[in-house]
Amino acid sequence: MMSGLIAFASCSGSRDSSARKENKPLATTTKVLWGHTAGGAPVELYTLTNANGLRARITNYGGIIVSLEVPDRNGKLGDVVLGFDSLDGYLGKHPYFGAIVGRYGNRIGKARFTLHGKTYQLAANNGVNALHGGLRGFDKVVWEAQASPEGSVVQLNYLSKDGEEGYPGNLSVRVMYVLTDDNELQIEYLAQTDKDTPLNLTNHTYFNLAGGGDVLKHKMQILADRFTPVDAGLIPTGELRPVAGTPFDFNTPVEIGARISADDEQIRLGGGYDHNFVLSSGGGKLALAARVAEPATGRVLEVSTTEPGVQFYTGNFLDGSITGKGGVRYGKRSGFCLETQHFPDSPNKPEFPSAILRAGQQYKSVTVFRFTTQ
Ligand code: BGC
Repeated sequence: MMSGLIAFASCSGSRDSSARKENKPLATTTKVLWGHTAGGAPVELYTLTNANGLRARITNYGGIIVSLEVPDRNGKLGDVVLGFDSLDGYLGKHPYFGAIVGRYGNRIGKARFTLHGKTYQLAANNGVNALHGGLRGFDKVVWEAQASPEGSVVQLNYLSKDGEEGYPGNLSVRVMYVLTDDNELQIEYLAQTDKDTPLNLTNHTYFNLAGGGDVLKHKMQILADRFTPVDAGLIPTGELRPVAGTPFDFNTPVEIGARISADDEQIRLGGGYDHNFVLSSGGGKLALAARVAEPATGRVLEVSTTEPGVQFYTGNFLDGSITGKGGVRYGKRSGFCLETQHFPDSPNKPEFPSAILRAGQQYKSVTVFRFTTQ
């Protein structure tokens, strides 16, 4: 067992003294039994509430963010993430709504990679390529969860055994969700392995800050001067291409829909945006990656990350066949994802920042979703 292997830093909860001083309600976490997997494993649902009344519901099945209620400019709370009302929806087939993705977020070309002279074969679950960790990735496992009623923090642990989904090494993973009183949902990912392995953890939440309809009017800003163009299988070609003068330049805020049907080879290949942006921050330190503003509600989402890249995906494959919360059918572009990450196919692209976690090293990645209004 690896469970004793990691010495994790203790978490910083949101139960700080400022809420107490201002006489605000304190942040809380409640837990209910939400249901069972097909195999009979119990699944829990945690509700994190901060001092301002923002609420995040998170399940230990796939570490999924089930709902995220944040205020509009009039203070009215609304759920800004796509998903299902009950566990059953998540147990069925769906495109990673809200889930933790691992071991490897996004694609690995031809579903294989070579490490220290050995070739590892993964499941080809996306044409000939591997996508989002395999047939049973971190989005489909039950995580061991810990939370205390005081503070709005839930900690999820998972041991991925050597050989799971074809990846080497016993990998011990911890994901911490913290809903702070600054209206941020912080996600901290920690891991250690006993053999070198590719690792690229992310969260696959689909946001819609309007709470419904499509996301084309959302104004998107992505702080990236380059992106990684892809081939027909959405595998990066290896080029880091300047965004200047292309529909991929989001350095100045622009509506998602403004250029989504542009006559552009990369837009055609992605069916819209489905690309990794090379963040100008370079990764390694927590820095603003993207800012999204929804004009009707005034809701604003700021995404900061320590990762060098972000996958901007505009729900191009949503086609109305999935019925989600409140019986709503999720049509094309009814949500967008900003998946903070190392670049897709890095294990086969030595020129990209390395996504190999070395045995005995500590993996740490932080992403913060901050909600404000304007
Ligand atoms: C990928 C898309 C994929 C979606 C859902 C995104 O991260 O880049 O191509 O359709 O996840 O699986």
